[in-house]
Amino acid sequence: MSEKFELPFKNPTIPTTLTPDTRIRFHCYPGITCFNACCRQADVTLTPYDILRLKRRLGLSSSAFLEKYAVPFQIDQDGLPGVKLKTNDAGTCLQLNGDAGCGVYPDRPSVCRYYPLALLALREKDSAEAKEQYTLVKEEHCQGHAEDREIRIDDYRAEQSCEDYDEHNREWYQLILKKKSAGPTVGRPPQTSLQLFFMASYDLDTFRRFVLSDNFSANYVLAQGLRTELEGNDIALLRFAYRFLRQVLFGERTIAEVANAWEKRVEQRAALWRAAVDAEKALRQKAEDEKYSDCADEPYCGDR
Ligand code: SF4
Ligand code: SF4
Repeated sequence: MSEKFELPFKNPTIPTTLTPDTRIRFHCYPGITCFNACCRQADVTLTPYDILRLKRRLGLSSSAFLEKYAVPFQIDQDGLPGVKLKTNDAGTCLQLNGDAGCGVYPDRPSVCRYYPLALLALREKDSAEAKEQYTLVKEEHCQGHAEDREIRIDDYRAEQSCEDYDEHNREWYQLILKKKSAGPTVGRPPQTSLQLFFMASYDLDTFRRFVLSDNFSANYVLAQGLRTELEGNDIALLRFAYRFLRQVLFGERTIAEVANAWEKRVEQRAALWRAAVDAEKALRQKAEDEKYSDCADEPYCGDR
């Protein structure tokens, strides 16, 4: 048995896996009769590096980008959060700049670069490494398949500058694949882990504040050199986010923890729990006292 991860996650793909050497017949260029038809039916799943590039191009924080230009969806049955590019009600991508085409073209997402290919990360049973393969997506509106040009998939990837994107997303694909492979043995991650997955994958500016917070330092060891790097370098922060997610999702000790941090957290939670129980008891006692205060002198007052 093997596990696969597909980007985008659902597609009318021809169910044949293709390799980097496979030649496809396809050409897309401004002026083709269907120009931008794909962007008018956009279903674009975003990766962490996609968001990093788009938010920079649009001059937004990651939170503002997500709020304005993304919609959430669930990657799997355990509620692993994903995000897609927002469209208008007719299904047109909000980044489409009329007949001029894509308004963010130099920073367009991986799915848009790969189209009409879908990227597949596949892991054979007993193998630690995921292989990247491809499938061909054929949709009626796309006339690029009728063009007279054959190209190797690897050359097409180079033409579309996919390698940079794959390099920065690869570890994230592996994380999702590992989560899928683990299946019921890992089970549904707790809600906090799912929230951390969302923040570390998509909301990098918030993740940076989290990592640089006193709360994080109280729990994890962050060398000063790394801390400085994470303050100013988005790519370093993205790599650190993947490390952090391996710890959150699979319990791998990828980031050293402060000695006794776990015990301290347990003790803090126990103290909070005890305080909550005491407060609840005091409230109940007060309610009981008030219940009888008006009739303290009557012998049969109370529950009747
Ligand atoms: S990001 Fe650009 S290429 Fe991708 S769907 Fe939107 S307009 Fe089209
Ligand atoms: S050829 Fe396909 S990918 Fe290119 S603009 Fe037309 S529909 Fe979009």
